[in-house]
Amino acid sequence: MQLSEQMTPFEAVNYFFLRAAEHQQLSDTALAMLSGTFRELRVQVPFRRDDGTMHVVYGYRVQHNAARGPYKGGIRYHPDADIEEVRALASLMTWKTALVDVPFGGAKGGVQVDGRALSKSELEQVTRRYTDQISHIIGPTRDIPAPDMGTNAQVMTWLMDQYGRKQGHTTQIVTGKPVPLGGSFGREEATGRGVVVTMEAALAELELGEPADTTLAIQGFGNVGSWAARIAAERGYRVVAVSDIEGGIHAPDGLKVDELLAHVAETGTVVGFAGSEPIANEDLLELDVDVLIPAALGEVITHENCDRIQARLIVEAANHPVTPVADYALADRGVLIVPDILANAGGVTVSYFEWVQNNQEIRWEHEDVNRRLELKLQRAYRECRAYQHDHHSEDMSFREAAFTLAVDRVVEAATLRGYL
Ligand code: GLU
Repeated sequence: MQLSEQMTPFEAVNYFFLRAAEHQQLSDTALAMLSGTFRELRVQVPFRRDDGTMHVVYGYRVQHNAARGPYKGGIRYHPDADIEEVRALASLMTWKTALVDVPFGGAKGGVQVDGRALSKSELEQVTRRYTDQISHIIGPTRDIPAPDMGTNAQVMTWLMDQYGRKQGHTTQIVTGKPVPLGGSFGREEATGRGVVVTMEAALAELELGEPADTTLAIQGFGNVGSWAARIAAERGYRVVAVSDIEGGIHAPDGLKVDELLAHVAETGTVVGFAGSEPIANEDLLELDVDVLIPAALGEVITHENCDRIQARLIVEAANHPVTPVADYALADRGVLIVPDILANAGGVTVSYFEWVQNNQEIRWEHEDVNRRLELKLQRAYRECRAYQHDHHSEDMSFREAAFTLAVDRVVEAATLRGYL
């Protein structure tokens, strides 16, 4: 595949897969299987607005691969969550679950709707209808959804409840539930915690100095960005800039993240936080910081701005935030990138813990969840580095090592099952 900025999101993810495939000299059958998806479902989701009018939106569930276990992946509510985007995210889940070695495959769902423009009852209707439309392909040992951008524990509750109306109560049908309904302690912050854990593993290699002297800029202040900011600040790092959809804020001496969270709870945005200067979202990416954490949408670091990125380390809290062209340009400049399939794998890791707890009808302590998450991600980080070192360290980036290791595991499972 030709490297270009015109790739669709799925082509961009597949570009990294194909690089991994080259390193491993995969067979044509393996290439055909893994560069495509197993099943793609598109459904209409009609719902009644509060003003009485009916609206129709489209929803998707894409199942990429299940060689290693049931399909697993979140559901995104976003106007950009079209079939190409959902395909890309589904394939990333296959590589992510393999990389952190949880016994799942990869899937993703999406509903092309702006959840923020819907009332609570409209959101509930959309969720219940979408659940009905995809219920024949999901199941606690088949395909287990979870939250993603625009969805949360409440949406997961409606999904579980709707599924249970026909199938009987099924706690394990979905992860990311509220704690009183079978959710796991630590799931809500898990992705943000994983971002900080993998950042720390990378920082230890770069030997940048004390946390208080290490500056972070975080693009996006939703679930992942805000938890990453909070946990990083708790560990003493200097968070100097954050942004959300309304705009960004900058404070070179560091933001008081606990006060910022209170400000966001009150006003709904980071904008206007006392003691900070406004900064445009694009400028935040180009700040002179040690660590840049893109935690919003995909493809924000491209051929257009990659030369102006000043961070030494990029931790991909978002999925596919760096385009392939930018990825190679940054690698050439020696910028270390912790790839999405490692950096944001904390969410699905604790989803796995939640599913395990549900299957056994037990609940682990919060500290226990955090400790197991930390160990699992540290191990995955070490395994990627070891793989890079043992195999092709001269011509393999960290991202390529992560993809190649993940592809290795999926191919092994598919071969054992007799598919390859
Ligand atoms: N949506 C999250 C992700 O992209 C979590 C998926 C899950 O927990 O299954 O990894």
